[in-house]
Amino acid sequence: SGARVRRAHSKKLPQFLERGVDVKFSDVAGLGKIRLELEEVVKFFTHGEMYRRRGVKIPGGILLCGPPGVGKTLLAKAVAGEAGVNFFSISASQFVEIYVGVGASRVRALYQEAKENAPSVVFIDELDAVGRERGLIKGSGGQERDATLNQLLVCLDGFEGKGEVITIAATNRPDILDPALVRPGRFDRKIFVPKPGIIGRIEILKVHARKKPMAEDVDYMAVASMTEGMVGAELANIIEVAAINMMRDGRSEITTDDLLQAAQIEERGTLDRKDRSTEMWRQLALNEASMAVVAANFSDLKNIEFITISPRAGRELGYVRVKMDHVKFNSGMLSRQSLLDHITVQVAPRAADEIWYGEDKLSTIWAETGDNARSAARAFVLGGLSEKHHGLADFWVADRLNEIDLEALRILNMCYDRAKEVSLYAWQVFQLKLLLNRIPLHSLKIRIAIQEAFDKRHQRAPQDY
Ligand code: ADP
Repeated sequence: SGARVRRAHSKKLPQFLERGVDVKFSDVAGLGKIRLELEEVVKFFTHGEMYRRRGVKIPGGILLCGPPGVGKTLLAKAVAGEAGVNFFSISASQFVEIYVGVGASRVRALYQEAKENAPSVVFIDELDAVGRERGLIKGSGGQERDATLNQLLVCLDGFEGKGEVITIAATNRPDILDPALVRPGRFDRKIFVPKPGIIGRIEILKVHARKKPMAEDVDYMAVASMTEGMVGAELANIIEVAAINMMRDGRSEITTDDLLQAAQIEERGTLDRKDRSTEMWRQLALNEASMAVVAANFSDLKNIEFITISPRAGRELGYVRVKMDHVKFNSGMLSRQSLLDHITVQVAPRAADEIWYGEDKLSTIWAETGDNARSAARAFVLGGLSEKHHGLADFWVADRLNEIDLEALRILNMCYDRAKEVSLYAWQVFQLKLLLNRIPLHSLKIRIAIQEAFDKRHQRAPQDY
């Protein structure tokens, strides 16, 4: 009945809400002046009326600029935590990559949720992924980004000066952002978050040491001197590694030595990321190639434009770009099959790892695309697209959360099996082709037999889920 649908609708699960964000400014260390600026943002929420009466303009957006790991996300969460408002977050690279082509509608949905649950902070990580200057990117990838960027501009304008939804975005490349984004009323406040100096590093180490059993005489200065150039994320990690060290030795306090050792390990990790070993390059190549190989089998994803494993700004290990049919994607006309294909491509690296290295030698290189697949599968189920549940309005009701996860898991497993099947199939075709090229002409019969086998396989290429 109508009433039932309405009730179900009002309990629709927010997709972008982060529950239980309990970060306070006291959790953010070493950023004195920046903290003061963000404390003012908190006041826009808590004393909005006062600001408006005095004619002070409340910004629609704040841009945090700085390298990865310096605490930009942490600061945004602290603003929400201190103001006691809801925190919505998304990484802009997800706008472009998760469901290629539905970026604009995801932006709309994000702001719709933030508005329904106002007051709220919307946090957009890696803004440059979607906010690059329009026209800089040639080809279809650019069009997709344009549609998403335009939608973001519309949403930002919708909240200008109202103080009920404030957007905080993070980027490492403010220089390449579209000028429209930094116009007054949009991201007109730019705050630079630098890497911490020695005093900052001491403070950050101490914040993370608060909840750990530290020896009384720990020499934070020594650790801070050894960690020149490191950011908050790395320093936090040093404390964690030191704690593991302590536990392993069966001791009850973390010592300066634990910290110095952990700092050395962290330093090496940073270097490894810069100087990849041959084995790592091979794994990266397999990771990206596996996605391309599987994508090439699917009608909407088969036009591969570009594959790279060269390190890029940001955190990506590699990148596959697929040329998409943008009319179809932007109009939301993605078929169920295309969405499943997309998930399958995201789990392909895991499948390739299993096929090439074997189950007991799996690496974690596929963790990131695995995460994409998980959220895509969940969105698939929440969108009512799984055959079990489509059209069921009461599926939105919150107490069926567990069922949604189970169904998403089923979808994931199904896509995973298919990724393995397609990868194996591609591998066999490849070997058959090698064979065909090696067979001398006089064995025409063998050649025909193999060709037939090849054709048959081709027809049996997996089509449906
Ligand atoms: P960014 O968003 O700039 O990439 P994050 O905010 O995600 O960085 O930082 C990751 C983690 O590193 C945080 O959750 C926190 O544990 C630690 N961290 C980073 N910067 C700081 C800081 N200034 N003070 C305390 N902890 C920090």
